[in-house]
Amino acid sequence: MPLGQKILADLRHLLGRENVLTVPEDIIPYSFDGTAAMRQMPGCVVFTTTTQQVSEILKFANADRRAVVTRGSGTGLSGGSLPSADCIVLCTVKMDKILELDRANLTLLAEPGVTTLTIADAASAANLFYPPDPGSMKISTIGGNVAENSGGLRGLKYGVTRNYVMGMEVVLPNGEVTFLGNKCVKDVAGYSLKDLFIGSEGTLGVITKVLLRLIPRPAAKKTMVATFAQMDQAAEAVSAIIAAQIIPCTLEFLDRMTIHCVEDYAKIGLPLDCEALLLMETDGHPAVVADEAARMEKCCRDCGCLEVRVAKDDAEANKLASARRSAFSALARVAPTTILEDATVPRSELATMIRFVAAVAKKHQLRIGTFGHMGDGNLHPTFLTDERNHEEMLRVEEAFKEIFAEAIRLGGTITGEHGIGLAKKSFLPAFLGDAQMRVLRELRKTLDPNGILNPGKMFD
Ligand SMILES: Cc1cc2nc3c(=O)[nH]c(=O)nc-3n(C[C@H](O)[C@H](O)[C@H](O)COP(=O)(O)OP(=O)(O)OC[C@H]3O[C@@H](n4cnc5c(N)ncnc54)[C@H](O)[C@@H]3O)c2cc1C
Repeated sequence: MPLGQKILADLRHLLGRENVLTVPEDIIPYSFDGTAAMRQMPGCVVFTTTTQQVSEILKFANADRRAVVTRGSGTGLSGGSLPSADCIVLCTVKMDKILELDRANLTLLAEPGVTTLTIADAASAANLFYPPDPGSMKISTIGGNVAENSGGLRGLKYGVTRNYVMGMEVVLPNGEVTFLGNKCVKDVAGYSLKDLFIGSEGTLGVITKVLLRLIPRPAAKKTMVATFAQMDQAAEAVSAIIAAQIIPCTLEFLDRMTIHCVEDYAKIGLPLDCEALLLMETDGHPAVVADEAARMEKCCRDCGCLEVRVAKDDAEANKLASARRSAFSALARVAPTTILEDATVPRSELATMIRFVAAVAKKHQLRIGTFGHMGDGNLHPTFLTDERNHEEMLRVEEAFKEIFAEAIRLGGTITGEHGIGLAKKSFLPAFLGDAQMRVLRELRKTLDPNGILNPGKMFD
């Protein structure tokens, strides 16, 4: 049902006219997120600046049984912040302050709309480190990162967003405000509700503050790139590095298609005469870094790599890392529609999975670029397609079904970091099974009995 004048007037009164968008030209940019081929116009878009405002909006919405879709920067890749028809999009980007950096407890308290990069920079300015670094970190918000439990290039050694969330303020669907967690390193009082909200994709509450754990900054870092004539050799090198008990902070991979697209786009000077490229970074004590870098180079050479290039300085290291960071944007330039997935398998199954993805692309005659967090077993097969070509889109759909089925068969998962949202909703029941689906439904119903928060996402 379209939004009535009364609720719009209430929203304008609460937030100011400039923070309530209703004109189609203004709300079109909020009718999609980073996910391809999904669009839906909302009823309105509102910008909040305080927790109190969020609480009032949820009270209005709950009374009106009105859907609310929380949105950070809209970079999500599973349709999580895609509006539902006539909903209120509650955008947090104006809640963008770092509220506290506590050097005694090594924590940082931020509003949800602060970008990930701003958090990392604030930590760095205090000679501390916030490791999670999604490829989108220049624009993604910390609220979105927590709601998706985002990973990043440093996930292999440092873990994902969950490993750094000590607490959060949330507004529940009935407007109640509560703080989950605290600054204590140890706390086992009751169920860990903060952990329930991490990765909840905007379906259980609106996160209005995030308390993050910071760690000491590594003293040294070395970045290197190895190239391989065969994909299998790169996968074997990753297995050899892990088997040698080296846990680099970054172990990323690009296939031939991605390398060429990145080079066309970013002109980094990447070697083009190879099938696969590994970007490797080790950090920590200088002596350990030197030792690990030498051993990783040996692992790559033992697996028959073509070349290992070690960055001479920070500038070159940043340039090489940007090759991986720009992979998605570079692939997105070459086709009207880029559909990126994040099938994930145990690391021992990487070579099998990479071969399978290539075979599926060939079988369905689809163009594909694959890159990803090789050290985590988290691949991003990316189909380069055109959503206007209905027949090709059906083949893409079929290909993804086969890829997810294979990931599950190999003991993997349907999403390593991008979440379920709308994009992978149909795969979740088979992956989790009846008992887990029932528990998820009951939890959601308890917290949001009227089903106003992000309806239709993750599961019905
Ligand atoms: C180029 C590119 C690279 C990427 N690289 C990575 C990567 O390396 N690793 C990775 O994990 N992801 C990656 N992503 C995906 C995406 O950036 C992350 O999921 C990110 O965390 C989304 O943040 P956002 O602010 O854009 O959230 P949005 O897309 O706006 O929202 C994502 C979800 O979070 C919910 N949400 C947002 N804010 C709140 C809040 N305050 N309270 C409750 N729910 C909320 C929304 O309802 C939605 O379900 C990438 C995306 C792009 C486009």
